[in-house]
This record gives sequence, C-alpha cells and structure tokens, in this order.
Amino acid sequence: MNKTFESYKLLRTEIDNRATKLESEHSEQIKCKKGCDMCCMDYSILPIEFYSIINDLKEAKTVPETSAESKEGECIFLKNRVCTIYTQRPIICRTHGLPLLFMNDDNEWELSACELNFKDFNFEEFTLDNTFPQDKYNSKLFMLNKEFISGFQYKEFGEFDLIPIKNLIKHLKSHQINDLAKSIED
Ligand code: SF4
Repeated sequence: MNKTFESYKLLRTEIDNRATKLESEHSEQIKCKKGCDMCCMDYSILPIEFYSIINDLKEAKTVPETSAESKEGECIFLKNRVCTIYTQRPIICRTHGLPLLFMNDDNEWELSACELNFKDFNFEEFTLDNTFPQDKYNSKLFMLNKEFISGFQYKEFGEFDLIPIKNLIKHLKSHQINDLAKSIED
C-alpha cells in the first residue's frame, strides 16, 4: 500500500479512537443514531482522502450504491437514510455529532456542537479534553495531503484543492471499465 495511505489510515484510526472516547464521555447528550442524516452534506475532500477511499473500495471490490433521489446539497451516498460507504467514509463524517473546537477567522476559539445533541448542556463544561480538536487533526491531514500530492503521478493538485465526494463513483466506474478492457486484452 502507498506509504501516505498507510499514514492516512493511522490518522483515521487515531480520530476514530478519539471520537469513541468523546461519545462515551458525552453519552448522555449524544443522540446520533442510524437514520439521522442531518450532517450528510455534499462534501468535498482532499486528494489523499479521495484516492485512499477509492483504494479501499477497489480492495473491497465494490461500487457503492447511491441515492437516485438526493436533494440539492445532500451526499449521494446517503441511501434510505443510511451511509453506503460507512466503513470507508471520510474523516469529516467520523466527527459528526461531536463537540468540535476550532479557531475561527477572527483567531478566536469557537465550539460547534449539534443542536440535537447538546440541548441542555452547559457549554462552560467544555474543556480541551472533552472536545474534538479539529484544527490539530486538520493540520495533520493537510500535511499528509501535501506529501501525497507532491508524489502524485497523474494530475497536478494545489495544496488547497478539494474533490467532490460524489466524483468517487465516476472514478470507480472508469477504473472498472479499464480493468475490464485490460482483462479482455490479457
Ligand atoms: S459519506 Fe456517508 S456519513 Fe459522510 S456525508 Fe455521505 S452519507 Fe453521510
């Protein structure tokens, strides 16, 4: 496996572990459950995530199902209110519902927490330990992406370029066609 993909997966595991810890700490407030899709928007992701997910889906030999009835701005992988790429979903989706701590454009700390989860919570009780440090993980992901795009063979990406998550399907289908053509040639 590509070395940067390995690092991406390690980061993803670190984030999953942090998310699990926070979900347990805030179990009385966090009400996220199968069927709630309020966070499932039509995201765009960094190339390292995009191509790592492609790799995972190719390894799983699957082209995920998509919804034929996606509303404007909704993720196409949300089908019958369930994520069809749940195992491979990007990092942003792994932090849904958590209290997210980040620095805003005015260089002030800001906290974002789902209104369905933290209805009666006293925001004074949030600390560095019981929130998700979004900037820390975004910086790690940004650095990994920088390394990834510098060695990317097929296309030039800028540091801030993002790819719409819905393009995964187009890529997977074109890979399938290429693989099929190759097997016919062989
Ligand atoms: S990838 Fe899955 S979890 Fe993420 S926005 Fe789409 S449907 Fe929701």
